[in-house]
Amino acid sequence: MDYDALLERGLSKIPERAIKSSKYETPQTETSVIGAKTVVYNFKDIAGKLNRTPNHLLKFIVRELATSGTLEEARASLHGRFAKETLDELIVRYIKACVLCGSCNKPDTKLVREDRLTFIACEVCGAKNPAKTLM
Ligand SMILES: [Zn+2]
Repeated sequence: MDYDALLERGLSKIPERAIKSSKYETPQTETSVIGAKTVVYNFKDIAGKLNRTPNHLLKFIVRELATSGTLEEARASLHGRFAKETLDELIVRYIKACVLCGSCNKPDTKLVREDRLTFIACEVCGAKNPAKTLM
């Protein structure tokens, strides 16, 4: 069994309640540069932790990096060489722009679209704030 599977197993044993009430931890990327590409191995996992689709997260990241990228099962492959620090920073930016509630700062939110605008709807305080994203 590999490390990721062990990690997931451990996480799945924790009741959902405990995760929601625990301090929010920013997921870290696992990356490597292969030739002219940067692969993020745990991309799908990160999107899942943020309760977002990998596709939405990828669109945000490729726009910020002004590059292109593709999803390959659990990973994402980006054109260009990017440092892990750069990608971790982008995850933080994504969380601020598209995940955290603008009113209570909790991550228990979902994106909703209304009138061609995207809002962050909070499941904790019920607030609905515009997402800082074009999508
Ligand atoms: Zn809230």
